[in-house]
Amino acid sequence: MALNHKIESRMKKIMAAGLAGGLIVGVAATGIFTTVTGNTKEKEYQDKITSLEKELKNAQKEEEETGTDLEVMAQTSAQQLSEQGDAWQMVLVNESHPLDASYVPELAELEPDRQVDVRILEDAQQMLADARNAGLNPYVCSAYRNYDYQRSVFNDTMVDWITQGYTPLDAYDETKKSVAVPGTSEHATGLALDITSADYAQLDDAQADTAEAKWFAENCWKYGFILRYPPEKSDVTGIIYEPWHYRYVGKEAAKEITESGLTLEEYLEQSGVK
Ligand SMILES: [Zn+2]
Repeated sequence: MALNHKIESRMKKIMAAGLAGGLIVGVAATGIFTTVTGNTKEKEYQDKITSLEKELKNAQKEEEETGTDLEVMAQTSAQQLSEQGDAWQMVLVNESHPLDASYVPELAELEPDRQVDVRILEDAQQMLADARNAGLNPYVCSAYRNYDYQRSVFNDTMVDWITQGYTPLDAYDETKKSVAVPGTSEHATGLALDITSADYAQLDDAQADTAEAKWFAENCWKYGFILRYPPEKSDVTGIIYEPWHYRYVGKEAAKEITESGLTLEEYLEQSGVK
């Protein structure tokens, strides 16, 4: 627990440093200055940038002082995902278990413009085909997402919060409730799918009431997938209930995890892997 907390606060510093760095460029580049009229506003933005720069410098200094354990962890995960054998199926990626930004799986197209790790293609195709044969209308709204894309989504959301008056660290906390911190998104593994009903594309709790969500929640384990962020487990996963997000873990583990009602975090801890 103490270690987790240490990792989290360190992660926060790294991200705040990186994002604040990006933000300074971002704020200048998006022309907020030119659209702001009046000196008061302009001074406000300049003050904000000065304070961001100060935070960035402090965070970078601390980052240099605290070593490289998270980077090692991120590289180990990338290594495990690349290896032969079945260990790749169980690689944990979450806020305290980042994945190296340079990792790119061998990709295959599942649906138009939707790619997955080639090793899960057949099972994912079968799952979608069986859902469609059951008369359902599933839509894969997201599959593999690379680090840069995740970073830009996160950065944009964080800018929104900052322009609403949040400090960078508060904006960071607010943003990560709905967007995975870059380097901690399971979508970068190529093993995660967001599936909604084609008739109801909203990513909210009501998605769980669609016939598609019900079918996938009940049947996904047969194809090696688990509902990764179940309700009532946000404190374990760090992610809100997502009745659309499925993660491939292999058929055996998917069956055990689904039957036990555990999250991937809890399952790995129980089996002594993590
Ligand atoms: Zn997702």
